[in-house]
Amino acid sequence: MALDSNCIFCKIIQGEIPSTKIMETERTYAFADLNPQAEVHALVVPKNHFARVSEVAQADPSLLAEIVSTAQSIANEKYNGQFRLIFNSGEDAGQTVFHCHAHVLTGQKLEGE
Ligand code: AMP
Ligand code: ZN
Repeated sequence: MALDSNCIFCKIIQGEIPSTKIMETERTYAFADLNPQAEVHALVVPKNHFARVSEVAQADPSLLAEIVSTAQSIANEKYNGQFRLIFNSGEDAGQTVFHCHAHVLTGQKLEGE
């Protein structure tokens, strides 16, 4: 499925819901998380709708690689190239939006695990 009309991140990608764009590549879009957990907290999403990261990996490994590359580019641009990358997959892991997204935390020295 390319886009899901009920999906908040599909609406962001289409510009129907506003977002603060951080970066865009051919197949990914990165925008600021509304509730930042670090100096820089970006969400990187595939422009096509996939619910979970494993679905992206299975359908198109190069798209998953593009998400990681976008994260690296954000960290290069906004900080010193170092970053934390988190994918929540499933409700029990804290996933609340079921359009695959990578949390990119950077812009500072990060504490914790
Ligand atoms: P997760 O809990 O891993 O599904 O992450 C969902 C993330 O999306 C949370 O960190 C929210 O703060 C963020 N979020 C939800 N709605 C928006 C929005 N409209 N714009 C930017 N970030 C959002
Ligand atoms: Zn979606």
